[in-house]
Amino acid sequence: FAKREKKSTFQFYRDQLPAVTEGYLETEALLRKAIKKNEFVLLYQPQIDAVTKEIFGVEALIRWHREGHGIIPPNDFIPLAEESGLIVPIGKWVFEEAVRAINFWKDAGISPLPVSINLSIRQFYQAELVQMITSILTEANIDPALITIEITESIAMDATSALPILKELKALGLTISIDDFGTGYSSLSYLKKFPIDYLKIDQSFVRDMTTNKDDRDIIESIILLGHRLNKVLIAEGVETREHVDVLGQLGCDMFQGYHFSKPISKNAIIDYYTTFNFDQQ
Ligand code: C2E
Ligand code: MG
Ligand code: MG
Ligand code: MG
Repeated sequence: FAKREKKSTFQFYRDQLPAVTEGYLETEALLRKAIKKNEFVLLYQPQIDAVTKEIFGVEALIRWHREGHGIIPPNDFIPLAEESGLIVPIGKWVFEEAVRAINFWKDAGISPLPVSINLSIRQFYQAELVQMITSILTEANIDPALITIEITESIAMDATSALPILKELKALGLTISIDDFGTGYSSLSYLKKFPIDYLKIDQSFVRDMTTNKDDRDIIESIILLGHRLNKVLIAEGVETREHVDVLGQLGCDMFQGYHFSKPISKNAIIDYYTTFNFDQQ
C-alpha cells in the first residue's frame, strides 16, 4: 500500500510539472515522435543595434508544442536531445525553418533579417555539419552572411577539434558568435585563435548590473576586451530602460532582451519590425 501511495504522489508531481519528467527512454521516444509529428516551433527574438537604434537581426529559439502538455522550453528537452543524438535531426529542422523564415520576411518586403542559430556541442561536431548547412542555404538561395552560429565556450574548450570546423563555417560566409560569454570553463586564449565575430554577454551579468558594481565592472571589462579584439558585443537579458542606458554608455553594440521583445513568431516579427520605435519600448 505504501508503495502504491508513493507512486501516486510521484504521479501527482509529475502531472503538475510542465517539463518533461518521463524516464530517459520514454522521452527519447517522445522526441522521436515530436520530430515526425512536426511539434517543434521556432520563435525569434529581435536584436537591436545600439547605434542605429534599429532592428539588426533575430535569434531563433526553439519550443516544443507537446501534445497535451503545452509548450516545453528548450532547457527541458535540448539536453536529452543532445544525449540521444536526436539533436542532429532537430537541429537540421531548425536550420530549414530559420531559412524559411528569412525568405518569408523577404517576401513580406522587410529588409533581410540576419538570423542567429544556436548550435549545441553534438551538433557542432556532427560529421556532416558544413555540408548540411551548405545544402540548406543553396537550396533556399540564402546569402550565408545572413546566418550567425551561436556556440558556447564549452565548444571552445577543445580548441584543436573546434578550430577547423569554425574555419570551414567562416569560409562558407557565416558569422560566429560566442553565447553566454563569461560563464564557461574555458581560457580566453581561444579568442585569439578562433575566427569569432560576436560576443554575447551572458544575461547573469546584465541582470544585476544596475545594483551590483562587480557585474557592471565585469561587463565594462568584457566590452573593452571585446572591442580591443574587434568583436561586436551583444548584451543578453536586457530587461529595462536602465539596462539599455547603462549598456549604451559602456559602448555595447547590440541589445537583446524582454525590454524590447520576448521571442515571437515569424508572423509577429513582421508587425514588430514595421512598427518598431526604439524610444517607445
Ligand atoms: P540562449 O541561446 O542563451 O538564449 C537566451 C535565452 O534567454 C532564451 O531562453 C531567451 O528566451 C531568454 N531571454 C531572452 N531575453 C531575456 C530577458 O530579457 N530575460 C530573461 N530572463 N530571459 C531572456 P530559451 O528560449 O528558453 O532558450 C534557452 C536555451 O536553449 C538557449 O539559451 C539555447 O542555449 C538553447 N536553445 C534554444 N533554441 C535552441 C536551438 O534551436 N538549438 C539548440 N541547440 N539550442 C537551443
Ligand atoms: Mg543563444
Ligand atoms: Mg545566451
Ligand atoms: Mg544559454
